[in-house]
Amino acid sequence: MQEIFEIKDKDVMGRIGRLKTAHGVIETPTIMPVIRPGTDASRLRAFGVEIIITNAYITYRSPDLREDAIKKGLHHLTNWDRPIMTDSGSYQLYEYRDIEIANSEIVRFQREIGSDIGVPLDIPSAIDITHTRAKMELDTTLNRLREARNLIDDCKDDMILAGTIQGSIYPDLREYAAKEASKIGFDLYPIGGVVPLMERYRYSDLVRVILHSKLNLEPASPIHLFGAGHPMVFALAVALGCDLFDSAAYTLYASGGRYLSPMGTYFIEAMEYLPCSCPVCSRNSVRDLRMDEGLLADHNLYTSFEEIRRIKEAIREKRLWELVQMRVQAHPKLLDGLKEMVSFADFIERFDPISKTSFFYGGPESSRRSEVLRYSNRLDRFELEGNVLITTKKRLDIEYDHLFFLKPPFGPYPEELSETYPVGPSEIPKTPDHEAMVTAAANIRRLIALNPKVRFVIACERDWEEYLRGVIEDGVEVVWIER
Ligand SMILES: [Zn+2]
Repeated sequence: MQEIFEIKDKDVMGRIGRLKTAHGVIETPTIMPVIRPGTDASRLRAFGVEIIITNAYITYRSPDLREDAIKKGLHHLTNWDRPIMTDSGSYQLYEYRDIEIANSEIVRFQREIGSDIGVPLDIPSAIDITHTRAKMELDTTLNRLREARNLIDDCKDDMILAGTIQGSIYPDLREYAAKEASKIGFDLYPIGGVVPLMERYRYSDLVRVILHSKLNLEPASPIHLFGAGHPMVFALAVALGCDLFDSAAYTLYASGGRYLSPMGTYFIEAMEYLPCSCPVCSRNSVRDLRMDEGLLADHNLYTSFEEIRRIKEAIREKRLWELVQMRVQAHPKLLDGLKEMVSFADFIERFDPISKTSFFYGGPESSRRSEVLRYSNRLDRFELEGNVLITTKKRLDIEYDHLFFLKPPFGPYPEELSETYPVGPSEIPKTPDHEAMVTAAANIRRLIALNPKVRFVIACERDWEEYLRGVIEDGVEVVWIER
């Protein structure tokens, strides 16, 4: 398979990448605005759009559009000379359960009209169906993926073929789908069937679906989260390894009078101020936006791209985790999504870069960050003998052979690591939360257990007492010091 995706930078599981298509290279993460077939997309360049997505099935269904698309090509039809992805009609299939086209026909059609990224006609399984039904639909989807792969030659065809991962909300089916699709071999993997989860704010399920798919795909493959267009989910989704988004949301939300922001959704009717400085919001009043759905949609698109740029900069600075922690404050269910994510910490740790510039403790979920897990797993690398002092302050009246400082959530760390990431340059609140203390105490116990011949003395404040109970019961000497 040709290498069409190159990763430039990464943080958590997110990355900045370059995806090569027949109409140029795009930088990910990015958003593909959804364009009605046959409409002029050229004005979208001003928003930072690099790639658009349009519906091949709707183009096919209309005799006029179909003829034009075949004769002049999709790019001419949309007045867009950069990359275009096409959707196969799966969504229409989901909405109306019945469409009149065969998989092979729509795949060939996408190639014929010059789509840069084409998709087979997968079945977007609903989220409330039985496992048996979901498996049956998935088997059909996988057969169509195989059929499409046989039609589109990876080396000869210009069109990138995407293999959509389905499987409803069942973890085993998502895993199976990802493994099977990987065997067939695609250049891009959309994760499909997630719109109903987002509509119902079921972010824990969304996180599970993404991870069960993602963790069974080649780590270097680009991922498209099909149907995710709200800027408040971008940071979380990128941190989970998603590279492409599509947005019909910017117009759909505008038609319902909704003003998008990475912090959530506002109703323009209820707003008094515009908390944004995009070209729309700096030149118009709330009243103008109330009267003009087009302006509202433009703001929604500007703010979506602003968030993508913010995410890219966060990846560069290795502060994506911190951004995600801010973004999940937008909705309690998003916070549940982050909690679900940290339950996969052992897996995420394998992707996360080892060296960053700073570690900011932003709440209980930070105790399960890759850096903390990694530190805990490496407590066995210290060669210790004699007396070890673990302390929150430098105490000169206790003799020691090795000095460890104590810092939640990491626990004990040797003096030499004071300047080393992640322990050294970490920014921890003055009063650490319960989870940070629990994690730190667990690491103290672990260090003690790893070094049975060493005599440990712990010198710390009374705040630690409840967390060190087990250690004290085991006979380790603890010296209480004043704050
Ligand atoms: Zn704005």
